[in-house]
Amino acid sequence: MPGGGRIVVVGGGIAGLAAALRLRHLDPSLDVTLLEATERTGGAIVEAAVGDLRLPTGPEALYARRAAGVELCRSLGIALVKPAVTGTWLWTERGLVEYPSPAPFGIPAELGDAFRWPGVSRGGRRRALGDLIRRKRRSDLDESIGALLRRRLGDEVTDRAVAPLLADPFHGAIDRLSVRATFPELVAWEASQGSLLRGAMATMRDARRSELGPLRIRPEGGLERVVGRATVELGPVVRTGARAEALERDSVTWVVRIAGGDPVSADGVVLAVGADVARRVLGPAAGAAGAELASIPNVSVGSVLLVYRDGTADELPLGSGFVAPAGAVPMTACSWFSSAWPSTTLGSRAALRCTVGGDGQEEVLEAGDADIVEACARHLAALLPLPATPEHAVVVRRPNAAPQYLVGHVERVARLREALPAGIFVAGKAFDGVDVASVVGSAEAAAEAVSGFVRSIDRESSR
Ligand SMILES: Cc1cc2nc3c(=O)[nH]c(=O)nc-3n(C[C@H](O)[C@H](O)[C@H](O)COP(=O)(O)OP(=O)(O)OC[C@H]3O[C@@H](n4cnc5c(N)ncnc54)[C@H](O)[C@@H]3O)c2cc1C
Repeated sequence: MPGGGRIVVVGGGIAGLAAALRLRHLDPSLDVTLLEATERTGGAIVEAAVGDLRLPTGPEALYARRAAGVELCRSLGIALVKPAVTGTWLWTERGLVEYPSPAPFGIPAELGDAFRWPGVSRGGRRRALGDLIRRKRRSDLDESIGALLRRRLGDEVTDRAVAPLLADPFHGAIDRLSVRATFPELVAWEASQGSLLRGAMATMRDARRSELGPLRIRPEGGLERVVGRATVELGPVVRTGARAEALERDSVTWVVRIAGGDPVSADGVVLAVGADVARRVLGPAAGAAGAELASIPNVSVGSVLLVYRDGTADELPLGSGFVAPAGAVPMTACSWFSSAWPSTTLGSRAALRCTVGGDGQEEVLEAGDADIVEACARHLAALLPLPATPEHAVVVRRPNAAPQYLVGHVERVARLREALPAGIFVAGKAFDGVDVASVVGSAEAAAEAVSGFVRSIDRESSR
């Protein structure tokens, strides 16, 4: 085999970039090619011009407790910045109320806060406190986030207080999302403490002892800088405008067909794309893995970026944004970007990002941009001390961008990996966690698996 073997990475989002960087680190003699369909790398990590500003339309920060994201930034020489403020608010019919602090996963870690549970009726609170005495579930089969929360805390606390926070990162519906694939900590709390409230308390006791920092951190200059630096570091490995169309087996190697370009052969392939794209590219070669890929659906989401006039930033309540129950308002979440990540460029202007769409709410995205902006701005002005209209606003739609980890997802992904043809590996948002740090971890694991596979065929052929 020439050099150390040929590997193709399909997809130039953060997963593909992280996989390619890891491959280079593992074995510089590998011949790696990264194929990105569009003219730019980064995938979901993209900024938009909003007036004179450039603001992130997708992720704005990293989950700090997962090492892979932090390590990637460090290896690229990018410093990490803590948010200027933390704390999340919850939409209620009576206005925004602050989540108690501490409240891991929206569940109060102080009993007094559970007795006062904001935004919830007295009956709802009483039902939720039953969590302290209710028997734990015996089955260890996966269930939905909603099934676990409703069983332990009741419908009111679930729908009004906890679901908005837990559904947000997945743009999903809590009664369809797998709890084991999204928030395994909740399963562990019930198993070990017999109660979610006691689990939250124990978690915070541990956190205080180990003095953990903030949950979210931001690479200095934003995540686009991480993408830019990774792309430069990879140099000619990255081929933009190269859409992988099909994968075909050619005796012992794979041939990747590229739209309008020459095919590339590979000993191993990492598909760092959504499950739908992976299935399409694999075609008949997917075999039994095709049905598993088809069982990871996507929903469409959108971001509405709003920038208000000078002097508005300080008017926002202390915190980093709010979440809202499904269907209550046009947005499911609103991040106060200017509060968490102030800068001289933003000055005293409030910059907000509303998330719209997601499972069960995709019809919001069918409205025109002006109507979406008007609806978001009207609701924001009713909730926050902001003018009725922003100075600048941009709507960014992402069709089928958010994978849904339905009940049984962990087992589905295990079966899928088992069923993939030899030499093909999957990584990224559809499989092992949707946040950037999990995606990086997923990609690095795929890089290690594919390089191990390529080494093993190298050994075979030299026998
Ligand atoms: C609105 C929004 C807000 C978010 N906020 C956060 C946040 O604050 N923190 C956080 O950690 N995460 C956040 N996320 C999640 C995170 O951004 C994504 O899960 C992650 O960036 C996905 O990376 P990826 O590389 O797996 O996929 P993608 O970014 O989707 O990249 C896939 C790439 O593959 C390319 N591609 C597709 N088909 C082909 C083909 N046939 N051939 C070649 N290339 C192809 C695409 O063009 C794309 O560049 C957010 C996501 C969204 C949508």
